[in-house]
Amino acid sequence: MRSFTEDQVIFRDSYRKFLASEITPHMEEWREAGIVDRSAFKKAGDLGFLMIWPEEKYGGMGDEDFRYEQIIIEETARSGCKGWFNTLHSRLVGSYFKRFGTEEQRDRFLPKCVSGETILAIAMTEPGAGSDLAGMRTTAEDKGDHFLLNGSKTYISNGINSDVVIVAAKLAGAEKKHAMVLLIVERGMEGFERGRNLKKMGMPAQDTAELFFNNVKVPKANVLG
Ligand SMILES: Cc1cc2nc3c(=O)[nH]c(=O)nc-3n(C[C@H](O)[C@H](O)[C@H](O)COP(=O)(O)OP(=O)(O)OC[C@H]3O[C@@H](n4cnc5c(N)ncnc54)[C@H](O)[C@@H]3O)c2cc1C
Repeated sequence: MRSFTEDQVIFRDSYRKFLASEITPHMEEWREAGIVDRSAFKKAGDLGFLMIWPEEKYGGMGDEDFRYEQIIIEETARSGCKGWFNTLHSRLVGSYFKRFGTEEQRDRFLPKCVSGETILAIAMTEPGAGSDLAGMRTTAEDKGDHFLLNGSKTYISNGINSDVVIVAAKLAGAEKKHAMVLLIVERGMEGFERGRNLKKMGMPAQDTAELFFNNVKVPKANVLG
C-alpha cells in the first residue's frame, strides 16, 4: 500500500523546493535575530503551505488528511530549518478554531491565518504554571460584554510575531475552582504587551517570549468555546 497519494507526493516536492528557496537561505540570519521574518509566513500562505485543513471558503484545501502535516514536519526536519515552526501556526494553534471556534470566529480569523497575514500563538504556560495548568494565575473577570484579562505568560512560541494569541485564563469568581476560559487576544488590544524574546539552547530562530496582560478588555465575541 502506498503511504502517500499522488497529490501528496507533488505537495512534498513543492514544499521541499519552497524550503530550499525561501527558508533555508535565511536561517542563519533568523537564528542571529532570534526570530523568523514575518514575510516567510506570507510566502508560505501564498503558496498554500499554511493550514491545509480549512475549507476552500477560507482559502484552505479543505483536506483533513494529516499526511499533509506529516510531510511538512518531515521536510522541515530534513531541511534543518527547525525554527521555522509552520506546524505550530497551522495545526497546533489553528486547530483550536476548528475545534472550539464559532462560525463567526472562523469567518473572521481563518482567511488571514491561511494567507499568512495573521500569525498565531497559544499562551498557557506561566512562570509558576507549566505542566500543572491548574496553578495558573492569569485571570479573566466577567464584565458583562467583555472579560478583563490580567496576568502574564512565558515561553510562548511566536510570542513576538503573533497577531492573534489564544490565552488560557482562570475564570475569576467562578464556583468551580479550576474553571478556565480561552480568549482570543489580538495585536493592538490595550494593555497587551510583549516582554523579552527568550534565549534558548535550541531553535534559536523561533521567537519564544513573555506576554503581559494588564486590564485587557477582551470582547465576549473573542471567547473561544
Ligand atoms: C521552546 C519552548 C516553547 C514553548 N512554547 C510554548 C507555547 O507556545 N505556549 C505555551 O503555553 N507554553 C509553551 N512552552 C512551555 C511548555 O509547555 C512548558 O515548559 C511545559 O508545559 C513544562 O512546564 P514547566 O517548564 O513549568 O516545567 P514543570 O511543569 O515545572 O516541570 C518540570 C519537570 O517536572 C516534571 N513534572 C511536572 N509535574 C510533575 C508531576 N506531577 N509528577 C512528576 N513529574 C512532574 C516535568 O515532567 C518536568 O520534567 C514552551 C516551552 C519551550 C521550552
